[in-house]
Amino acid sequence: MVPQDINVDLHMHSTASDGVVGPCELVERGLANGLQLMALTDHDTIDGLAQARQAAMDSRVGFLNGVEISVSWGGETLHLVGLGFDPSHGPLASNLQQLQVSRRERAKDMDAGLQAHGLPSVLNEAMAYAGNPNLIGRTHFARALVARGVCHHIQEVFDRFLTPGKPGYVPHQWASLSQALGWIHDSGGLSVLAHPARYKLTDTARWALLQEFMALGGGAIEVSTGSHSHTDTQRYRQISVELGLKASRGSDFHSPTESRCDVGAAPVLPDGCDPVWSGWPVDKLCGLRW
Ligand code: AMP
Ligand code: MN
Ligand code: MN
Ligand code: MN
Repeated sequence: MVPQDINVDLHMHSTASDGVVGPCELVERGLANGLQLMALTDHDTIDGLAQARQAAMDSRVGFLNGVEISVSWGGETLHLVGLGFDPSHGPLASNLQQLQVSRRERAKDMDAGLQAHGLPSVLNEAMAYAGNPNLIGRTHFARALVARGVCHHIQEVFDRFLTPGKPGYVPHQWASLSQALGWIHDSGGLSVLAHPARYKLTDTARWALLQEFMALGGGAIEVSTGSHSHTDTQRYRQISVELGLKASRGSDFHSPTESRCDVGAAPVLPDGCDPVWSGWPVDKLCGLRW
């Protein structure tokens, strides 16, 4: 069984989605921070997994297949992390493909929205920042606008242009919660609600989300993540204990200059949580299935 107190990072991004570091280099960064067990969780793609898995095996770091799926729920975009699924499961790959096709259309609309606001077209630059044009997202536009000198840093671009109500924000229909959970569970994986404090929901809606997530077989919530403040972490520790949900830890690393936490360096889980990795069989960590 995996011990509770090892260094685990179950949420990070590579150049396969909106990270700036390649899948193998992520493993190197993690090693420097004492990482022992990891999952690569790119947005809506599993393309980086084979490379990251090999690098992790070569470095004797435990590895789980991962993905972060975009979901529309209650007028908000949520992120679901899937862990330990079979990446060769046909429906998972084809459904992710559909989400990717829709990203390209959305990118054109985002560019049009920015131009209507008097900004230059940065679609081509944003595409260049996206290693895979099918995975183009808001972060690539943010990097392009910083490179053009329109803003000083990524956070400023999001605040001024890329969040709901702003000129470059395009409302988008992602997967439904039940669809995304079905894709993860049907391919043998475990589902984790990513950075729950980030969603702009009323307390009633947040409660309804957690109930629906659990009713649909949701397995865990992120408690310690680079996307949570200390207060958020304490709040979701309490919620995980009250609901009997397992707790996950992940850096949500994207870039050495943009991210709050490096690979393997998210705050440790607070006392009282039930770590999602406790009880996992050590000998099956590559491509672990539930
Ligand atoms: P997308 O999937 O294209 O909508 O992009 C979502 C990604 O944008 C997230 O995974 C983050 O990497 C980034 N992001 C979202 N909101 C913000 C924000 N307020 N500040 C900085 N980055 C953000
Ligand atoms: Mn991202
Ligand atoms: Mn996310
Ligand atoms: Mn993420």
